[in-house]
This record gives sequence, structure tokens and C-alpha cells, in this order.
Amino acid sequence: MWQAEVRVDLDAIRDNVALLRARTTAEVMAVVKGDGYGHGMLPSARAALAGGATWLGVATLGEGLALRRAGFEVPVLAWLHSPGMPLHEGVAAGIDLNAGSVQLLGELVTAARRAERTARVHLKLDTGLSRGGATPAEWPALLEAAAKAQADGDIDVVGVWSHFVYADEPGHETIDHQLALFAEGLATAERAGITPRYRHIANSAATLTRPDAHYDLVRPGIAVYGLSPVAGESYGLRPAMTARARVALTKRVPAGQGVSYGHTYFTERDTTLALVPLGYADGVPRAASNAGPVQLGGKRRTVAGRVCMDQIVLDVGDDPVVAGDVATLFGAGDDGGPTADDWAAVIGTINYEIVTRFGSSRVPRVYQGGAA
Ligand SMILES: *Cc1c(COP(=O)(O)O)cnc(C)c1O
Repeated sequence: MWQAEVRVDLDAIRDNVALLRARTTAEVMAVVKGDGYGHGMLPSARAALAGGATWLGVATLGEGLALRRAGFEVPVLAWLHSPGMPLHEGVAAGIDLNAGSVQLLGELVTAARRAERTARVHLKLDTGLSRGGATPAEWPALLEAAAKAQADGDIDVVGVWSHFVYADEPGHETIDHQLALFAEGLATAERAGITPRYRHIANSAATLTRPDAHYDLVRPGIAVYGLSPVAGESYGLRPAMTARARVALTKRVPAGQGVSYGHTYFTERDTTLALVPLGYADGVPRAASNAGPVQLGGKRRTVAGRVCMDQIVLDVGDDPVVAGDVATLFGAGDDGGPTADDWAAVIGTINYEIVTRFGSSRVPRVYQGGAA
């Protein structure tokens, strides 16, 4: 390591997917959106397929096309489109595309004609998240339009799908309610002559906690990267990302010395400060000022003062920390070191956001395991 790095353990990704696979009879779509939740989309996708995933899931068409350009030939679903996008490129690339409204379905028909190829479509039912998808009230019209487009040969309805509101809280009342609406939506689809090969609703949390929600395909994201969607449960997953840096310098300062912008931290006694070259440009949340946990010299420390764009400072007391020592912001937690969950807890966010933030370009991503 030159200065700082985000290390990604591809064997952990592979093993996490294998663990998920072992928990279901459904096929596994590894979700690799958001640059693989900050882990790197392409290496993560490769590792996930090695673990037994047979599908890849992304949010945007751009992400889907990048997978195809990189040579991935497995089924890919992209689910977030705006009107006017070059969806025909997605159709031409054989990417499965989501339609959650009659308007988007119309765009897919146009795209299919332009690409001179049948579009592979997944119809999305909004069972309560109020994000993408047709509401139950809009569902019959979407089915009708889809049945017609399918009869015309413009589309092939490969999937019917939905997404959970609160699967990360097992037992939450929305889960059963959404499953009931999904089952109803599937029944309505069948009456409209639409019987897709893939029915899917389960994210990581539902993959781990609700086998009755697996249907034909599960769509885990965060669990692929070894982080648990459910507080307090690890399910045997192994976190794949470690963020660490070499201490750039240390110095002795007297008691009462203010540290970093705004002097929001003062030393209590004569002490050693260690400068760690990672900051908010690299993903360290500024909200973790005076709060973020860092492992250094075999002990857990707390960021002293404000997080800067490029660096943070640690107060290591009289411990024999020297420049060049490695400070770990988070990792698998093996050595009692902090995890992405710990960082999420101190700033009131979710582990998803912590690892995704560390996907920035300045810090080299170093891969271990896999084919790397
Ligand atoms: C992000 C996403 C997933 C994966 O969710 P996790 O909670 O990370 O498992 C699945 N499906 C859709 C539609 C998503 O947007």
C-alpha cells in the first residue's frame, strides 16, 4: 500500500453468494449497481458469478451496457429508466429492462422496433414502496398494454416483480401485506395471459429471512458484499471491503492543543497525534468528526476533531505509533477492528452508504482473491 487503499476480498464476495445460494432454490441475481456498492462493478460481478449467481442486477442502462461491454453474457436486469433514453441500445445488448408504467412500456416497444429485436421486459408492481412500478390501480392497464405488445412480438414478458419497503425488519407488517399484493398482482397477470418465467421480490433481507418470498429469483445486493441488512445478525456473511491508510506523520503536542479545523477537539494531556491520509473526498463522512472509529496500533481510536477533505487526525496518547503504521477505518472486524456497521452507527446511516462512499476514484481499489 502506497498511502491509502480500499481492499476488496473477491473470495468473500464469491463465498457470500454461495451462502445465499445455499439458502434458496431460486436463482440468484447479484445486484452490482452503484459500482458494486463501491466495491467495483466488474470484479464484483465476476466473483458473484463464481459463487453461483446466474443473473446480474443494476439500476441504470449505463451500468448494464458496461457489463455487456466487459463481456458478461448472463441475464442482466436494469430497472431505472427515464423517457428519452437510448433504450434500444439496451434491447440490442439483450439487457432485460423494467417497465413500471404504460409510458415506459411504450418506450420499450419503440426501442424494440428500432433495435429490430424483441425486448425482454420485467413488469413492476408497486406493492407499497411508492418508488418504481405501477400501483395496484394502474396494474391492469399495464398488463393489458404488455399483453398486446407481447402478442405483437415487440416484447417478451420475462418477469413480474416488486420491491420491499421494510424487509430489513423481519416481522414488519408491511412484508406480509406486500407479499399478499404481489400474489394478487401475479394472479391478475395470469388472467391477462401473462405468466412470466421469473417472479421476484426478495432483496438481501428477504433472501435471508423470508423463504416464502423467494419465488423464482432473489435479488440480494448488500449481502453479496458481506454486510448484513438486518441489525445484529451476520448470517455468516463476510465483509469484503477494508479501508485503510498508512499514518503520514506523528507528532507530540502539549495538553490543551486544539486539533483540526475549528478546533472542535482539544488534547487532554501531552500526547501523540497521528495523521491518517483519508478524508471526505475518499468517503470518510464529515459527520463522523470526533466520532469515527479507527484501529491503529492494536487499539480502537476515535477521529479527533473534524474530518478534512483528505485527512483525519487520531490522538494516540503515549502509544508507540509511528509514521508508516497502518490505520484501519473498517474491515471484516476480525481483529476487533471497526466495521462498516460501526461507522454507519456513529453517523446514523446504513452500512450500504458507508461502503458505497468509499468507491471514490482517488483511493486505489486493491483486489485480493478471485481471479485477481
Ligand atoms: C438495490 C436493490 C436491490 C438489492 O437490495 P439489498 O437491500 O442491497 O439486497 C434489489 N432490488 C432492487 C430493485 C434494488 O433497487
